[in-house]
Amino acid sequence: MEEKVKSELKKIFGFSQFRGNQEPIVDNLLKDRNTFVIMPTGAGKSLCYQLPAVVSEGTAIVISPLIALMKNQVDQLNAIGVNAHFLNSTLTKSESNRVKSEVLAGRTKLLYVAPESLTKEDNIEFLKSAKISFVAIDEAHCISEWGHDFRPEYRKIKSIVAQIAPELPIIALTATATPKVQQDIQRNLQMESADLFKSSFNRTNLFYEVRAKVKNETKKQLIKFIKSHKGKSGIIYCLSRKKVEEIADLLRVNQINAAPYHAGLESSVRMKNQDDFLNEEVDVIVATIAFGMGIDKPDVRYVIHYDVPKSLEGYYQETGRAGRDGLEGHCLMFYRYEDIVKLDKFNKDKAVTERENAKILLQEMAAYAETGVCRRKFILNYFGETLEEDCGYCDNCKRERETFEGLELLQTVLEA
Ligand code: ADP
Ligand code: MG
Repeated sequence: MEEKVKSELKKIFGFSQFRGNQEPIVDNLLKDRNTFVIMPTGAGKSLCYQLPAVVSEGTAIVISPLIALMKNQVDQLNAIGVNAHFLNSTLTKSESNRVKSEVLAGRTKLLYVAPESLTKEDNIEFLKSAKISFVAIDEAHCISEWGHDFRPEYRKIKSIVAQIAPELPIIALTATATPKVQQDIQRNLQMESADLFKSSFNRTNLFYEVRAKVKNETKKQLIKFIKSHKGKSGIIYCLSRKKVEEIADLLRVNQINAAPYHAGLESSVRMKNQDDFLNEEVDVIVATIAFGMGIDKPDVRYVIHYDVPKSLEGYYQETGRAGRDGLEGHCLMFYRYEDIVKLDKFNKDKAVTERENAKILLQEMAAYAETGVCRRKFILNYFGETLEEDCGYCDNCKRERETFEGLELLQTVLEA
């Protein structure tokens, strides 16, 4: 790699070295090769296209599914002096015209585009007339119906990119690693021959545990668990808004500093609760899965699933918010099979294939919860990775070890 690129890493982004696969990825993209990146959340995927965009001629198009995240990234880039803009439905006509003239003048290094905006005819015409360096597709799992966040517009990206310019290099990035989703993305983007950079999904500092969910008992266990982590930050995921409110109230009644978060709350309340959690005014956030995307709090010490999630991928994403700083992260799930049945019933109005897909994901989730083998092995296997030995750091491994130690102890006693 050219020295210039490395010096920009330090000069612009302030990082003294690359992390994980970042260097070969940046290198690959700068050679105009199609690049497919699979890296866990928090590993640093954004840099893999931001740095190449800064050192390339022209504007990189970045497709990103969430308007809030888009704005966040553009603000961060502007703050470090990088010329970046976004095009989405929040802009007025004159604002979007201003963005377009910046791009046409060749000043913009990164243009974030919402998939809905990309499909608009006048935007396509505009992009055809601009000098584009490459296209980055962030959260590329949105392409796949097997992913946890399917967006139909994502499936149109490839044909639009081909209209803008036929030979544009593409970098697709995701934290979803199941082989099925991976195949889907590659097929849809016609990127079968792209270079694949896949990092390990093993989060060695996370302890995985599943407990049986038993009426009343579980609430007591929940309170006990939280009290044993006094003053520490934790997230509790529940399935419904109602459950979120109920659990948040229960915790507060028990002198735990907790706040709720779900899409039914007034947005000012929701934002305040989120900020309070980030600023540690609140220890525990009780939330639906609406909470967490793009949240970067390094010292979350535990993630509890009060209700079983809809897929193992979702579970992995949500538990992945614990222990970002590399220190302890306890991932506890309360499970009963009835919750799986309930979730399946929610899907009854969906189209047949969609319901079947959801059912398969649920069954995999149930298999994880009910397994007696090493949980880490199970999770990694789901993501197409093999762990040679049991991890020794999950409830199943611990139980096995305790049984073994118990037997050894018994033997010493008997031999004495
Ligand atoms: P992802 O999209 O993979 O979830 P992000 O791109 O949001 O991850 O990056 C996560 C964090 O890692 C950010 O705070 C980012 O500034 C930081 N980061 C990225 N690359 C590096 C690096 N080479 N050195 C240090 N920190 C980095
Ligand atoms: Mg990201």
